[in-house]
Amino acid sequence: MVFQQLIERKRDGGALTEAEWAGVLADFVAGRIPEYQMSALLMAVVWRGLEPGELAALTDAMLASGDRLDFGTWITRRVDKHSTGGVGDKVSLVLAPLVACCGVAVPMMSGRSLGHTGGTVDKLESIPGFRTALEPREVERQVQRIGCAMFAQSEAIAPADRRIYALRDVSGTVSSIPLIAASIMSKKLAEDLNALVLDVKQGGGAFIPEQTAALELARTMVTLGQRHGCRTVALVTAMDRPLGRACGNALEIEEALLALEAQGPPDLAELTYALGAEMLVAAGVESDRGAARLRLQAAIASGQARAKFAEIVEAQGGNPGIVDDPGVLPQAQAVEVYQAQERGFVERVDARVIGEAIVSMGGGRQQLEDPIDPSVGFVITVKPGDHVASGEPIASIFARDEEGIRIGIAALDRAIGIGEKGTLPALITHRVTDQGVEALHSRAAAVSSPS
Ligand code: URA
Repeated sequence: MVFQQLIERKRDGGALTEAEWAGVLADFVAGRIPEYQMSALLMAVVWRGLEPGELAALTDAMLASGDRLDFGTWITRRVDKHSTGGVGDKVSLVLAPLVACCGVAVPMMSGRSLGHTGGTVDKLESIPGFRTALEPREVERQVQRIGCAMFAQSEAIAPADRRIYALRDVSGTVSSIPLIAASIMSKKLAEDLNALVLDVKQGGGAFIPEQTAALELARTMVTLGQRHGCRTVALVTAMDRPLGRACGNALEIEEALLALEAQGPPDLAELTYALGAEMLVAAGVESDRGAARLRLQAAIASGQARAKFAEIVEAQGGNPGIVDDPGVLPQAQAVEVYQAQERGFVERVDARVIGEAIVSMGGGRQQLEDPIDPSVGFVITVKPGDHVASGEPIASIFARDEEGIRIGIAALDRAIGIGEKGTLPALITHRVTDQGVEALHSRAAAVSSPS
């Protein structure tokens, strides 16, 4: 079949067969299909979507394009968590060691920051010496030895996705639910997991702002996971405001360490326990989420989870002393306190504005190869719904220099809205399983008015 005819068939709403998708991916990776033709096919998918059989075939072909973790006959259950990305989302840093203390193994593969969203790999690399570039065999050995590895997506895993993603990034074809689902799931399914828990972010600071699209992405990924024999559950969670208080690589490591000592912000704890409980139940080591949550809380209270984090840091070449002295993390050269401009209720803390400011201040990247400064970012101590007095300190800016401080102040002026009433929307809105979608009525702070 001439490739051009496949593009035309997709453009006109037809479907490619399983063998055709396998052939397309193999030919593209081998350099037999030029990027301009592949971009045209991807754009046809953006407009026409993929039928379920095509989505499965594309995911399988991406998965088959590279190496996979293989735990052989090892009986310990394996589970990972994936977040679609946000601002201040340091859950993985707490969750991986925590869940690894509860009878399951966690091979946690993560990405780097891109655009306004942060990436776990960059956060971990702000720990002096920490190595995230582990080869698959090294991951398998470490997971079997200490129950957890936190590593970057390597060239070896789903290389077809890597090449296609790079093309999507420059051809306006990122925003397609089937392409996003195939991309994420091909990498996750390469981890030889028994279960996977997805945190699908929704809201202005998320990759996918609209709730309907977030739910569709969650359903699509759950179906793909289940089809591959990997028990998959998704929570749809809010990313209109940052998660926790710290936003920025080293600052988020510091906040994750606090959370491992039960001293972290409440929203970070709420989401960590919710995702962790799903992981333990999905992996089959707990039968209900309530019991799972108690087990997770005990692992924090006993200091086990914190000790596991130090063990992972040491295993991957980092300085485990960081757990007792976060002062070894990179420190910003300039720090400034930001005060509320007026009295009233916080109406919004715009996560996207904060994420974009971190990029401008040097703490994120526009291109994958851009260097980043791990020390910069914000600590924002208010959430929508909080009452503030005029002049009250509500944030701190951490920057390289005075220019960074100026960018930070301007961003906080735009991101934080203060007015007559404010409300905190629910953090976790939906739970998606192969049984369907459950709306969760998790508490939202009451709408308040100044007296
Ligand atoms: N993350 C991925 O890995 N792939 C996408 O397509 C989007 C987000």
